[in-house]
Amino acid sequence: MSAAKPTKYIFVLGGVMSGLGKGITASSIGYLLKNAGIRVTILKLDPYLNVDPGTMNPYQHGEVFVLDDGSETDLDLGHYERFIDIDMTKENNATAGQIYSIVLDRERRGEYLGQTVQVIPHVTDEIIHRIKSVNSPKKYDVVICEVGGTVGDIESLPFMESIRQLSLEVGYHNHMIVHVTLLPFVKASGELKSKPTQHSVMKLREIGLSPDIIFCRSEYPIDRSVREKIALFCNVHPDHVIEGRDVPSIYEVPLIMFEQNMMELVNSRLKLDKEPDISHLQKFNERYKHPEHKVIIAMCGKYTELIDAYKSVLEAFVHAGVENNSRVDVRWVHTEKIVDDLSAAKTFKNIDGILLLPGFGSRGGEGKILSSKHAREKKIPFLGICLGLQCAVIDFARYKCGLNGANSTEYNKKTEYPVIDLMESQKAIKIKGGTMRLGAYDCELKTGTKTYNAYRKKKISERHRHRYEVNNRYRSRLEKNGLVFSGVNKNLDVVETIELTNHPWFVATQFHPELKSRINRAHPLFREFINAAVKYNTKVS
Ligand code: GLN
Repeated sequence: MSAAKPTKYIFVLGGVMSGLGKGITASSIGYLLKNAGIRVTILKLDPYLNVDPGTMNPYQHGEVFVLDDGSETDLDLGHYERFIDIDMTKENNATAGQIYSIVLDRERRGEYLGQTVQVIPHVTDEIIHRIKSVNSPKKYDVVICEVGGTVGDIESLPFMESIRQLSLEVGYHNHMIVHVTLLPFVKASGELKSKPTQHSVMKLREIGLSPDIIFCRSEYPIDRSVREKIALFCNVHPDHVIEGRDVPSIYEVPLIMFEQNMMELVNSRLKLDKEPDISHLQKFNERYKHPEHKVIIAMCGKYTELIDAYKSVLEAFVHAGVENNSRVDVRWVHTEKIVDDLSAAKTFKNIDGILLLPGFGSRGGEGKILSSKHAREKKIPFLGICLGLQCAVIDFARYKCGLNGANSTEYNKKTEYPVIDLMESQKAIKIKGGTMRLGAYDCELKTGTKTYNAYRKKKISERHRHRYEVNNRYRSRLEKNGLVFSGVNKNLDVVETIELTNHPWFVATQFHPELKSRINRAHPLFREFINAAVKYNTKVS
């Protein structure tokens, strides 16, 4: 496609209720397009008033996904990157908070020249500008734009209105609307109900938008008569009603879309004429469904009731599991319950690997330190991420260097041995949003280490989100006692990765490897961690 062709837009909007997988829908369409050789990106519009999700509680919002440029974004961006394998930037996530701040700042600077500043056109113009700027300068043929929330929400109205205006501006063959809804199953009558979908489409039409494709989430197959009913009431062709049935893995969604001619529908509407190659994804799903091995990994953290808080870690396990022909089952461990070696031994019975999760605050901290101790002493494969590295260093300092009571100043400000301390650059900071060490930083790996052997290269770049770091004053003491600093950032003089030699696989990172695992490329550290867990499992069983 020549660069002069207009950008095409696919808007993904949700109806009925939230949590139906709009992010996966957008990503799956993106996957098909990308694998058809179309240059595609995805933009998430979030109608909430937070400027970004960085300060939001994971219980409210799930994981904060950090990009290379340091922006803290919605977890759907993680899906986008994993499915379409591109590195996104802050342009790929716009919140109402950002949009309103820009409009209000402009008003304060007097740039509206005395006009009354209104939702239409000032806020909507800014939204349209954000939608367009994700492809400026033009790099993509298609921009998929997902709107958070559900049609009918008060706060999403300006976004819907902007989409209406933009659709008119770009014209029929340059945009389409995919509406994601739910068909609830009523047990008593044994029926899938289409009424909520009809109502949400009505809501959409009130705003002046009508769906081109309805992607119906459902626990059961949708038969022809239901499709026809939805088609009739929602003003689409029955072939444009696509069944989004529950599948064992989110990576099957592009395949079920493909089976139902999603690509043809996109091709004919957007005048694209491309065919995706789905063979890799088919193989991936086959391997996922028929693993040779099975490992159990203990996930040690704080938000163990909420899987969305660690979405990227769980997806990284899927990718790494497939590359190791292994199923990865997770056992959630709330570290507050680990109070001594005995409770650690009980908790970690029959597990093949321990993953110490990232986190903030001291709750469950002592249990995390004991989890590291257990993995280290019992030679269980171990991966520590961010806070996980910090707890592993505390464990090593306390129990291998004789630094009794060593701690992080995040846990105990008065500790005698602050082996983990606030980074110098963080000390003067008082405001909360976006003030951590965020985003991609380089790291140089020591050849011959496990970490180096995983990446098979010396220079790597990984994403960060933290305030504390290994205190350089203790580096030589830790090193003398056997802790290996396998990766450092030489410019900033900070420890990035640690590992142990007399252990099958004990690695921890200050950065977040899970943020860069992709469907077609498991992250090297996750791949090796699961590989070690498979070996451990074969040895003990
Ligand atoms: N709380 C720790 C810090 O701020 C770890 C952060 C994390 O695990 N992402 O450094």
